[in-house]
Amino acid sequence: MSDTPKTRLATDLIHAGRIRTNIEENAEALFLTSGFTYESAEMAEAVFDNRVEHFQYSRFANPTVTMLERKLAKIEGAEACRATATGMAAVSSALLCGIKAGQRVVAARALFGSCHWIVSTLLPQYGVETVFVEGTDMAEWKAALSQPTALVLLETPSNPMLDIVDLRAVSDLAHAAGAIVVVDNVFATPLLQKPLELGADVVVYSATKHMDGQGRVLGGAVLGSKQWMETVFQPFFRNTGPAMSPFNAWVILKGLETMHLRVAAQSKSAEAIAQFLEASPKIARALYPTLASHPQRELAMAQMSDGGTLVTFEVKGGKEAAFRMMNAFRIITISNNLGDTKSLATHPATTTHLRIGAEERARLGITDGCIRLSVGLEDTQDLIEDLARGLAQA
Ligand SMILES: *Cc1c(COP(=O)(O)O)cnc(C)c1O
Repeated sequence: MSDTPKTRLATDLIHAGRIRTNIEENAEALFLTSGFTYESAEMAEAVFDNRVEHFQYSRFANPTVTMLERKLAKIEGAEACRATATGMAAVSSALLCGIKAGQRVVAARALFGSCHWIVSTLLPQYGVETVFVEGTDMAEWKAALSQPTALVLLETPSNPMLDIVDLRAVSDLAHAAGAIVVVDNVFATPLLQKPLELGADVVVYSATKHMDGQGRVLGGAVLGSKQWMETVFQPFFRNTGPAMSPFNAWVILKGLETMHLRVAAQSKSAEAIAQFLEASPKIARALYPTLASHPQRELAMAQMSDGGTLVTFEVKGGKEAAFRMMNAFRIITISNNLGDTKSLATHPATTTHLRIGAEERARLGITDGCIRLSVGLEDTQDLIEDLARGLAQA
Protein backbone atom coordinates (compact mmCIF):
# COMPACT_ATOMS: atom_id res chain seq x y z
CA MET A 1 0.00 0.00 0.00
CA SER A 2 1.37 3.41 -0.94
CA ASP A 3 -0.06 5.04 2.19
CA THR A 4 1.63 2.61 4.65
CA PRO A 5 3.39 4.84 7.19
CA LYS A 6 7.03 4.35 8.07
CA THR A 7 6.97 2.68 11.48
CA ARG A 8 9.31 1.88 14.35
CA LEU A 9 10.16 -1.29 16.27
CA ALA A 10 7.40 -1.31 18.92
CA THR A 11 4.76 -0.71 16.26
CA ASP A 12 6.20 -3.38 13.97
CA LEU A 13 6.22 -5.94 16.79
CA ILE A 14 2.46 -5.42 17.06
CA HIS A 15 1.37 -4.82 13.48
CA ALA A 16 3.97 -5.91 10.90
CA GLY A 17 3.10 -8.84 8.66
CA ARG A 18 -0.58 -9.05 9.49
CA ILE A 19 -2.88 -10.93 7.15
CA ARG A 20 -6.53 -10.09 7.91
CA THR A 21 -9.31 -12.22 6.45
CA ASN A 22 -12.63 -10.83 5.19
CA ILE A 23 -14.11 -11.64 8.61
CA GLU A 24 -11.97 -8.70 9.82
CA GLU A 25 -10.70 -10.36 13.00
CA ASN A 26 -8.57 -8.17 15.27
CA ALA A 27 -6.17 -10.78 16.68
CA GLU A 28 -4.23 -12.88 14.18
CA ALA A 29 -6.20 -15.90 13.00
CA LEU A 30 -4.91 -19.37 13.78
CA PHE A 31 -5.09 -21.34 10.54
CA LEU A 32 -4.88 -24.80 12.05
CA THR A 33 -5.09 -26.58 8.72
CA SER A 34 -2.65 -28.87 7.00
CA GLY A 35 -3.99 -28.26 3.49
CA PHE A 36 -5.83 -25.74 1.30
CA THR A 37 -8.42 -26.27 -1.42
CA TYR A 38 -8.73 -25.27 -5.08
CA GLU A 39 -11.94 -24.31 -6.84
CA SER A 40 -11.02 -26.46 -9.86
CA ALA A 41 -8.47 -28.95 -11.14
CA GLU A 42 -7.24 -26.25 -13.51
CA MET A 43 -6.69 -23.94 -10.52
CA ALA A 44 -4.64 -26.63 -8.71
CA GLU A 45 -2.52 -27.08 -11.82
CA ALA A 46 -1.95 -23.33 -12.12
CA VAL A 47 -0.91 -23.10 -8.47
CA PHE A 48 1.56 -25.99 -8.71
CA ASP A 49 2.94 -24.48 -11.92
CA ASN A 50 3.59 -21.22 -10.02
CA ARG A 51 1.23 -19.27 -12.27
CA VAL A 52 -1.12 -18.42 -9.38
CA GLU A 53 -0.09 -17.63 -5.82
CA HIS A 54 -2.15 -19.72 -3.40
CA PHE A 55 -1.46 -21.61 -0.17
CA GLN A 56 -1.01 -25.32 -0.96
CA TYR A 57 0.13 -27.30 2.04
CA SER A 58 1.36 -26.22 5.46
CA ARG A 59 4.74 -27.88 5.02
CA PHE A 60 5.37 -25.26 2.30
CA ALA A 61 3.56 -22.28 3.84
CA ASN A 62 0.66 -21.49 6.18
CA PRO A 63 -0.97 -18.06 6.66
CA THR A 64 -0.35 -17.91 10.45
CA VAL A 65 3.28 -18.91 9.93
CA THR A 66 3.58 -16.42 7.06
CA MET A 67 2.43 -13.62 9.38
CA LEU A 68 5.22 -14.55 11.78
CA GLU A 69 7.80 -14.73 8.97
CA ARG A 70 6.83 -11.30 7.67
CA LYS A 71 6.97 -9.77 11.14
CA LEU A 72 10.41 -11.28 11.86
CA ALA A 73 11.77 -10.12 8.48
CA LYS A 74 10.60 -6.57 9.19
CA ILE A 75 12.16 -6.53 12.68
CA GLU A 76 15.47 -8.00 11.49
CA GLY A 77 15.66 -5.83 8.40
CA ALA A 78 15.97 -8.98 6.27
CA GLU A 79 14.49 -9.52 2.81
CA ALA A 80 13.19 -12.98 3.63
CA CYS A 81 12.38 -15.27 6.56
CA ARG A 82 11.29 -18.87 7.01
CA ALA A 83 10.04 -20.10 10.35
CA THR A 84 11.05 -23.60 11.46
CA ALA A 85 9.84 -26.15 14.02
CA THR A 86 12.73 -25.52 16.44
CA GLY A 87 15.88 -23.47 16.70
CA MET A 88 17.90 -26.55 15.81
CA ALA A 89 15.77 -27.07 12.67
CA ALA A 90 16.73 -23.50 11.73
CA VAL A 91 20.46 -24.07 12.33
CA SER A 92 20.64 -27.51 10.70
CA SER A 93 18.61 -26.42 7.64
CA ALA A 94 20.63 -23.24 7.18
CA LEU A 95 23.85 -25.30 7.23
CA LEU A 96 22.75 -28.34 5.22
CA CYS A 97 20.75 -26.60 2.47
CA GLY A 98 23.76 -25.32 0.56
CA ILE A 99 26.80 -27.29 1.71
CA LYS A 100 28.38 -30.01 -0.44
CA ALA A 101 30.81 -32.86 0.24
CA GLY A 102 34.39 -31.65 -0.13
CA GLN A 103 33.58 -28.13 1.02
CA ARG A 104 34.86 -26.50 4.18
CA VAL A 105 33.08 -25.00 7.20
CA VAL A 106 34.79 -22.83 9.81
CA ALA A 107 32.99 -22.34 13.13
CA ALA A 108 33.66 -20.62 16.42
CA ARG A 109 34.20 -23.29 19.05
CA ALA A 110 31.84 -21.68 21.57
CA LEU A 111 28.50 -22.90 20.21
CA PHE A 112 25.22 -24.15 21.66
CA GLY A 113 25.72 -27.90 22.38
CA SER A 114 23.67 -29.23 19.43
CA CYS A 115 25.21 -26.72 16.99
CA HIS A 116 28.62 -27.93 18.13
CA TRP A 117 27.56 -31.55 17.41
CA ILE A 118 26.38 -30.68 13.88
CA VAL A 119 29.76 -29.14 13.07
CA SER A 120 31.98 -31.64 14.89
CA THR A 121 30.09 -34.86 14.10
CA LEU A 122 27.30 -34.58 11.50
CA LEU A 123 28.91 -32.49 8.75
CA PRO A 124 32.09 -34.67 8.62
CA GLN A 125 29.82 -37.73 8.10
CA TYR A 126 28.74 -36.10 4.83
CA GLY A 127 32.29 -35.38 3.70
CA VAL A 128 32.39 -31.76 4.81
CA GLU A 129 35.67 -30.58 6.32
CA THR A 130 35.05 -28.66 9.53
CA VAL A 131 37.45 -26.47 11.48
CA PHE A 132 36.88 -24.92 14.90
CA VAL A 133 38.52 -21.66 15.94
CA GLU A 134 38.61 -19.67 19.13
CA GLY A 135 35.95 -17.10 18.22
CA THR A 136 37.55 -14.26 20.16
CA ASP A 137 40.96 -14.73 18.48
CA MET A 138 41.19 -12.89 15.14
CA ALA A 139 44.54 -14.56 14.34
CA GLU A 140 42.82 -17.98 14.42
CA TRP A 141 40.02 -16.73 12.15
CA LYS A 142 42.59 -15.28 9.75
CA ALA A 143 44.54 -18.55 9.58
CA ALA A 144 41.42 -20.71 9.17
CA LEU A 145 39.99 -18.42 6.49
CA SER A 146 43.19 -18.26 4.44
CA GLN A 147 41.76 -21.19 2.41
CA PRO A 148 38.60 -21.30 0.30
CA THR A 149 35.64 -21.85 2.65
CA ALA A 150 31.93 -22.31 1.95
CA LEU A 151 30.38 -21.33 5.28
CA VAL A 152 31.18 -19.71 8.61
CA LEU A 153 29.04 -20.33 11.70
CA LEU A 154 29.26 -18.36 14.92
CA GLU A 155 27.28 -17.36 17.96
CA THR A 156 27.73 -14.03 19.81
CA PRO A 157 27.38 -13.63 22.72
CA SER A 158 28.11 -17.34 23.00
CA ASN A 159 26.42 -19.93 25.16
CA PRO A 160 27.22 -20.18 28.03
CA MET A 161 30.43 -18.13 28.50
CA LEU A 162 29.20 -14.96 26.72
CA ASP A 163 32.22 -14.63 24.42
CA ILE A 164 31.87 -11.81 21.92
CA VAL A 165 32.87 -12.42 18.29
CA ASP A 166 33.68 -9.44 16.07
CA LEU A 167 30.91 -9.74 13.47
CA ARG A 168 32.29 -7.13 11.05
CA ALA A 169 35.88 -8.39 11.07
CA VAL A 170 34.92 -12.09 10.74
CA SER A 171 32.40 -11.33 7.98
CA ASP A 172 35.07 -9.47 5.97
CA LEU A 173 37.53 -12.38 6.27
CA ALA A 174 34.82 -14.94 5.49
CA HIS A 175 33.67 -13.12 2.36
CA ALA A 176 37.26 -12.88 1.11
CA ALA A 177 37.47 -16.69 1.50
CA GLY A 178 34.22 -17.12 -0.46
CA ALA A 179 32.09 -18.08 2.56
CA ILE A 180 28.63 -17.07 3.64
CA VAL A 181 28.34 -16.10 7.31
CA VAL A 182 25.60 -17.67 9.45
CA VAL A 183 25.06 -16.07 12.86
CA ASP A 184 23.12 -17.68 15.71
CA ASN A 185 21.72 -14.49 17.28
CA VAL A 186 19.66 -16.10 20.06
CA PHE A 187 21.43 -14.54 23.03
CA ALA A 188 21.34 -11.00 21.62
CA THR A 189 17.81 -11.22 20.14
CA PRO A 190 16.93 -9.17 17.04
CA LEU A 191 16.47 -6.20 19.38
CA LEU A 192 20.04 -5.87 20.70
CA GLN A 193 22.19 -6.87 17.71
CA LYS A 194 21.78 -6.69 13.91
CA PRO A 195 24.23 -9.17 12.33
CA LEU A 196 23.05 -8.42 8.76
CA GLU A 197 24.05 -4.76 9.18
CA LEU A 198 27.49 -5.90 10.35
CA GLY A 199 28.12 -8.10 7.30
CA ALA A 200 26.48 -11.46 8.10
CA ASP A 201 24.49 -13.19 5.34
CA VAL A 202 22.11 -15.41 7.32
CA VAL A 203 20.72 -15.05 10.85
CA VAL A 204 19.19 -17.96 12.75
CA TYR A 205 17.07 -17.99 15.89
CA SER A 206 15.55 -20.31 18.39
CA ALA A 207 12.12 -18.63 18.74
CA THR A 208 11.67 -20.92 21.76
CA LYS A 209 13.66 -18.36 23.75
CA HIS A 210 12.87 -14.62 23.93
CA MET A 211 10.37 -14.58 21.04
CA ASP A 212 7.86 -16.82 22.77
CA GLY A 213 9.46 -15.59 25.96
CA GLN A 214 7.05 -17.43 28.22
CA GLY A 215 8.33 -20.97 27.95
CA ARG A 216 5.42 -22.46 26.00
CA VAL A 217 6.37 -23.58 22.51
CA LEU A 218 9.35 -24.47 20.34
CA GLY A 219 10.20 -22.57 17.19
CA GLY A 220 12.98 -21.24 15.03
CA ALA A 221 13.65 -18.81 12.21
CA VAL A 222 16.10 -18.36 9.34
CA LEU A 223 16.56 -14.90 7.81
CA GLY A 224 18.57 -13.79 4.80
CA SER A 225 18.43 -12.38 1.29
CA LYS A 226 15.53 -13.13 -1.04
CA GLN A 227 17.98 -14.64 -3.53
CA TRP A 228 19.54 -17.11 -1.02
CA MET A 229 16.17 -17.99 0.49
CA GLU A 230 14.53 -18.74 -2.86
CA THR A 231 17.37 -20.52 -4.62
CA VAL A 232 19.27 -22.27 -1.78
CA PHE A 233 17.09 -22.56 1.32
CA GLN A 234 13.57 -22.98 -0.04
CA PRO A 235 14.10 -26.22 -2.07
CA PHE A 236 15.66 -27.86 1.02
CA PHE A 237 12.95 -26.53 3.35
CA ARG A 238 10.06 -27.57 1.12
CA ASN A 239 11.34 -31.09 0.54
CA THR A 240 12.78 -31.99 3.95
CA GLY A 241 9.97 -30.54 6.09
CA PRO A 242 11.30 -28.61 9.10
CA ALA A 243 8.18 -26.37 8.99
CA MET A 244 6.74 -24.66 12.08
CA SER A 245 3.33 -25.61 13.43
CA PRO A 246 0.73 -22.85 12.87
CA PHE A 247 -0.24 -23.14 16.52
CA ASN A 248 3.32 -22.42 17.61
CA ALA A 249 3.52 -19.50 15.16
CA TRP A 250 0.33 -18.07 16.64
CA VAL A 251 1.75 -18.30 20.19
CA ILE A 252 5.04 -16.71 19.12
CA LEU A 253 3.18 -13.89 17.31
CA LYS A 254 1.61 -13.04 20.67
CA GLY A 255 4.99 -13.27 22.39
CA LEU A 256 6.57 -10.84 19.94
CA GLU A 257 4.07 -8.11 20.80
CA THR A 258 5.76 -7.63 24.20
CA MET A 259 9.29 -8.84 23.43
CA HIS A 260 10.93 -5.38 23.51
CA LEU A 261 9.49 -4.62 26.95
CA ARG A 262 10.51 -7.99 28.36
CA VAL A 263 14.02 -7.99 26.91
CA ALA A 264 14.67 -4.41 28.09
CA ALA A 265 13.47 -5.12 31.65
CA GLN A 266 15.24 -8.50 31.85
CA SER A 267 18.51 -7.01 30.54
CA LYS A 268 18.36 -4.22 33.11
CA SER A 269 17.81 -6.79 35.84
CA ALA A 270 20.60 -9.00 34.46
CA GLU A 271 23.13 -6.18 34.64
CA ALA A 272 22.23 -5.42 38.30
CA ILE A 273 22.47 -9.13 39.12
CA ALA A 274 25.87 -9.44 37.42
CA GLN A 275 27.15 -6.52 39.49
CA PHE A 276 25.76 -8.09 42.67
CA LEU A 277 27.39 -11.46 41.91
CA GLU A 278 30.73 -9.94 40.96
CA ALA A 279 30.94 -8.25 44.38
CA SER A 280 30.46 -11.53 46.30
CA PRO A 281 33.61 -13.14 47.78
CA LYS A 282 32.10 -16.57 46.97
CA ILE A 283 32.15 -15.85 43.23
CA ALA A 284 35.34 -16.44 41.22
CA ARG A 285 34.04 -14.45 38.23
CA ALA A 286 30.85 -13.08 36.80
CA LEU A 287 30.40 -12.69 33.04
CA TYR A 288 28.08 -10.12 31.50
CA PRO A 289 28.83 -8.15 28.32
CA THR A 290 28.48 -4.67 29.83
CA LEU A 291 30.50 -5.32 33.02
CA ALA A 292 33.75 -3.33 33.14
CA SER A 293 35.51 -6.65 33.85
CA HIS A 294 34.26 -8.37 30.66
CA PRO A 295 37.33 -8.90 28.47
CA GLN A 296 35.49 -7.73 25.36
CA ARG A 297 33.26 -5.06 26.80
CA GLU A 298 34.26 -2.50 24.16
CA LEU A 299 33.43 -4.81 21.25
CA ALA A 300 30.18 -5.85 22.93
CA MET A 301 29.14 -2.22 23.32
CA ALA A 302 30.09 -1.47 19.71
CA GLN A 303 27.95 -4.20 18.18
CA MET A 304 25.17 -4.61 20.77
CA SER A 305 22.78 -2.00 22.15
CA ASP A 306 22.47 -3.76 25.53
CA GLY A 307 23.99 -6.73 27.37
CA GLY A 308 21.09 -9.21 27.11
CA THR A 309 19.23 -11.37 29.58
CA LEU A 310 21.91 -13.95 30.49
CA VAL A 311 24.53 -13.90 33.21
CA THR A 312 27.12 -16.65 33.67
CA PHE A 313 29.14 -16.91 36.85
CA GLU A 314 31.58 -19.23 38.53
CA VAL A 315 31.09 -20.19 42.17
CA LYS A 316 34.22 -20.96 44.17
CA GLY A 317 34.19 -24.59 45.32
CA GLY A 318 33.36 -26.34 42.03
CA LYS A 319 30.39 -28.60 41.30
CA GLU A 320 29.44 -29.21 44.96
CA ALA A 321 29.23 -25.48 45.73
CA ALA A 322 27.35 -24.78 42.47
CA PHE A 323 24.82 -27.56 43.20
CA ARG A 324 24.33 -26.38 46.81
CA MET A 325 23.69 -22.85 45.53
CA MET A 326 21.18 -23.96 42.90
CA ASN A 327 19.36 -26.25 45.32
CA ALA A 328 18.92 -23.34 47.76
CA PHE A 329 17.05 -21.12 45.28
CA ARG A 330 13.37 -20.57 46.12
CA ILE A 331 12.41 -18.32 43.17
CA ILE A 332 14.93 -19.18 40.46
CA THR A 333 14.17 -22.63 39.06
CA ILE A 334 16.54 -25.23 37.65
CA SER A 335 15.89 -25.53 33.93
CA ASN A 336 18.03 -25.50 30.79
CA ASN A 337 15.69 -23.23 28.79
CA LEU A 338 16.39 -19.50 28.55
CA GLY A 339 14.75 -16.21 27.60
CA ASP A 340 11.69 -17.01 29.72
CA THR A 341 9.84 -14.59 32.03
CA LYS A 342 10.75 -17.06 34.79
CA SER A 343 14.38 -16.93 35.95
CA LEU A 344 16.13 -20.21 35.15
CA ALA A 345 19.48 -21.54 36.29
CA THR A 346 21.45 -24.33 34.67
CA HIS A 347 24.77 -26.01 35.39
CA PRO A 348 26.27 -26.29 31.86
CA ALA A 349 29.00 -28.82 32.70
CA THR A 350 26.45 -31.47 33.74
CA THR A 351 23.58 -30.56 31.38
CA THR A 352 23.78 -28.54 28.14
CA HIS A 353 27.53 -29.08 27.72
CA LEU A 354 27.83 -32.56 29.28
CA ARG A 355 28.19 -34.35 25.94
CA ILE A 356 30.99 -32.23 24.47
CA GLY A 357 33.38 -33.78 27.03
CA ALA A 358 35.71 -32.48 29.71
CA GLU A 359 38.52 -31.51 27.35
CA GLU A 360 36.35 -29.32 25.13
CA ARG A 361 34.67 -27.80 28.22
CA ALA A 362 38.08 -26.88 29.60
CA ARG A 363 38.97 -25.25 26.28
CA LEU A 364 35.76 -23.21 26.45
CA GLY A 365 36.31 -22.20 30.08
CA ILE A 366 33.20 -24.04 31.29
CA THR A 367 34.36 -25.06 34.76
CA ASP A 368 32.43 -27.20 37.25
CA GLY A 369 31.58 -24.09 39.29
CA CYS A 370 29.86 -22.34 36.35
CA ILE A 371 26.15 -21.54 36.51
CA ARG A 372 24.25 -19.93 33.65
CA LEU A 373 21.38 -17.73 34.77
CA SER A 374 18.62 -16.68 32.40
CA VAL A 375 17.21 -13.61 34.12
CA GLY A 376 13.42 -13.43 34.05
CA LEU A 377 10.88 -10.73 34.69
CA GLU A 378 10.53 -11.14 38.45
CA ASP A 379 11.39 -8.22 40.77
CA THR A 380 15.16 -7.63 40.58
CA GLN A 381 15.52 -7.35 44.35
CA ASP A 382 13.70 -10.65 44.90
CA LEU A 383 16.11 -12.32 42.48
CA ILE A 384 19.14 -10.79 44.21
CA GLU A 385 17.79 -12.04 47.57
CA ASP A 386 17.34 -15.50 46.07
CA LEU A 387 20.92 -15.46 44.75
CA ALA A 388 22.11 -14.36 48.22
CA ARG A 389 20.16 -17.30 49.69
CA GLY A 390 22.03 -19.58 47.27
CA LEU A 391 25.41 -18.00 47.98
CA ALA A 392 24.90 -18.52 51.71
CA GLN A 393 24.76 -22.29 51.00
CA ALA A 394 27.55 -22.32 48.40
C1 LIG B 1 18.16 -22.91 22.32
C2 LIG B 1 19.21 -22.58 21.36
C3 LIG B 1 19.28 -23.25 20.13
C4 LIG B 1 18.34 -24.37 19.75
O1 LIG B 1 17.01 -23.99 19.77
P1 LIG B 1 15.79 -25.04 20.03
O2 LIG B 1 14.58 -24.21 19.85
O3 LIG B 1 15.99 -25.57 21.40
O4 LIG B 1 15.94 -26.11 19.00
C5 LIG B 1 20.30 -22.89 19.25
N1 LIG B 1 21.19 -21.92 19.57
C6 LIG B 1 21.15 -21.27 20.75
C7 LIG B 1 22.15 -20.23 21.04
C8 LIG B 1 20.16 -21.58 21.68
O5 LIG B 1 20.12 -20.93 22.85
